[in-house]
Amino acid sequence: MRRILPVRPRQTLIGRLPHGGDLLEEITKICIEEGVRLGTVSAIGAVQRARLGYYLQREREYQFFTLNEPLEIASLSGNVSLKDKEPFVHAHALLSDGNGRTFGGHLAPGTVIFACEVVIASCEGTELEREADDATGLPLWK
Ligand code: ZN
Repeated sequence: MRRILPVRPRQTLIGRLPHGGDLLEEITKICIEEGVRLGTVSAIGAVQRARLGYYLQREREYQFFTLNEPLEIASLSGNVSLKDKEPFVHAHALLSDGNGRTFGGHLAPGTVIFACEVVIASCEGTELEREADDATGLPLWK
């Protein structure tokens, strides 16, 4: 089902995240503290190690994998909406090693920041709440 809603730009936040922090948790913390309930996230930088997820469509569950090495955040993009009435960050990351090889997936807790520059563009408009989707087993926008 396609459902597209208009939103308006509200405020753009830009800054750096703390060395040693958890990437997903730090972005989520900013959204909670700054009242971002709808918006987009992008970031570049580097991580000390990473934990990403891959959704097994048939089994309807995430399989997580850990990358225990320093990696560049070649790209991180995501969005902010609501889950259980609270700001929820859904982000995917593309990470690269010293040979330019890339790994990518659903950003999970357990990804440790080396250095990270983040931009959060918050929007205003109809808030999007996530709820269980029968077709996919994922918490999607209703
Ligand atoms: Zn995802």
